[in-house]
Amino acid sequence: MYLDLNRNLTEAQVALREQTHRFAEEVLRPAASRLDRMDPEAVIADGSPLWDALKEAYRQGYHVRGFPESLGGAGLTGLDSTVVTEEIAWGSCDFAAALGVSTIPFGFVLGTGDAELIREFVVPFARDRDAQYVGCWAVTEPNHGTDSLLFSTEHFRDPNIALDTTARLDGDEWVLNGQKSAWVSNGTIATHALMNVSIDASRGMAGGGFCIIPLDRPGVTRGKPLDKMGQRALNQGQIFLEDVRIPRKYMLVGPEGCTEAVGGLLTGANAGMGTIFSAVARAAFEEALAYARHRIQGGKPIAEHQLVQQSLFQMFMKVQAATALSRAASAYNRGGPPAAQMSMASKVFCTQACHEVASAAVQIHGGLGLCKDLLVEKLLRDARASMIEDGNNEVLGLAAARRLIDG
Ligand SMILES: Cc1cc2nc3c(=O)[nH]c(=O)nc-3n(C[C@H](O)[C@H](O)[C@H](O)COP(=O)(O)OP(=O)(O)OC[C@H]3O[C@@H](n4cnc5c(N)ncnc54)[C@H](O)[C@@H]3O)c2cc1C
Repeated sequence: MYLDLNRNLTEAQVALREQTHRFAEEVLRPAASRLDRMDPEAVIADGSPLWDALKEAYRQGYHVRGFPESLGGAGLTGLDSTVVTEEIAWGSCDFAAALGVSTIPFGFVLGTGDAELIREFVVPFARDRDAQYVGCWAVTEPNHGTDSLLFSTEHFRDPNIALDTTARLDGDEWVLNGQKSAWVSNGTIATHALMNVSIDASRGMAGGGFCIIPLDRPGVTRGKPLDKMGQRALNQGQIFLEDVRIPRKYMLVGPEGCTEAVGGLLTGANAGMGTIFSAVARAAFEEALAYARHRIQGGKPIAEHQLVQQSLFQMFMKVQAATALSRAASAYNRGGPPAAQMSMASKVFCTQACHEVASAAVQIHGGLGLCKDLLVEKLLRDARASMIEDGNNEVLGLAAARRLIDG
């Protein structure tokens, strides 16, 4: 049995967790399983289970669970927020990621405190109960994946390495040109992007900026939805920009704040990844435990064989360790100035642990574990993608080490 690490959850937190768990079990997990087997074009087509589930998530306010109550959000912070994210991800990491990135452009605008921009972008998103507003976080490019994320390394200031998507000021407007990678989550369904663009290439990646772009602007086009091995219910795809014009005020951060903005966004995203994949690990462990209890081999349930017991215990340890670290990293970063190395430790450890647990869960299922009908088969593919998502694990480790060494 999974034991919650925190014996002191309040009644309200337990209720929140149970309510979200029911939603994840009844809506998100079945939708993600169906979408997993569909063609990426069919995933995003009208009438697809993607829209039913996303609309229901918006109807229940999960897209604004961390937004202030004054704006129509649930105002969740701290462990309340972590517990809700865990349960959503237990049901589907695809939807956990889709809802998470959907919030990013609007949450970023909220953070600027600019009343006019908040009225224009945040208020309609916060009021949306029908998934009319979908955000994405467009950073990586065909020629710059890792390059665009490693804000703490010296190459971030190398003038020879800059984003290819550019922003040029023309009077009171920015003119944008370029292309974002096929890996942008929600990329072909998003209505708004928080986009990282190059403003002063002589400063390398650090010479970039972040702008909000309504994606119905003239000059914006999209690529095909990406066909990938895991997290197939999470839409991804390219965004192309050709002489796209946005008002000057839509550039939310310029080169003076770019490095800090990349660091802040990655720190938040990596902490979220830790939370999500600690819960996916739990889902895989639960499947393995349930199967081991009733599969009979050698005249008894396989759970009675010591090798299987050993495997189940290893899985249990990894789930508990991942959950503990992800909760601790989130709590640390909410309690004061965030530390990127905390989030990176959580992301790398939890996704690695999740991959090991999901692989062990497939092994415990024997041949059945390889079948498309089984949840563990999907979880293993989802976990594999997580070790590249939001930064390859090995380079995140290098970036975190740099911060440890530099103090
Ligand atoms: C499921 C998923 C969701 C994603 N969502 C988004 C999103 O919402 N928005 C977005 O912008 N992007 C998104 N991405 C893209 C993701 O951030 C990149 O895939 C990731 O940063 C790696 O970039 P890359 O794929 O170009 O690999 P590359 O950067 O080309 O790396 C290839 C290999 O080289 C190694 N390597 C690269 N640079 C170095 C270095 N300096 N030192 C040592 N080794 C190095 C890497 O570790 C890796 O093994 C997503 C990716 C996935 C898988």
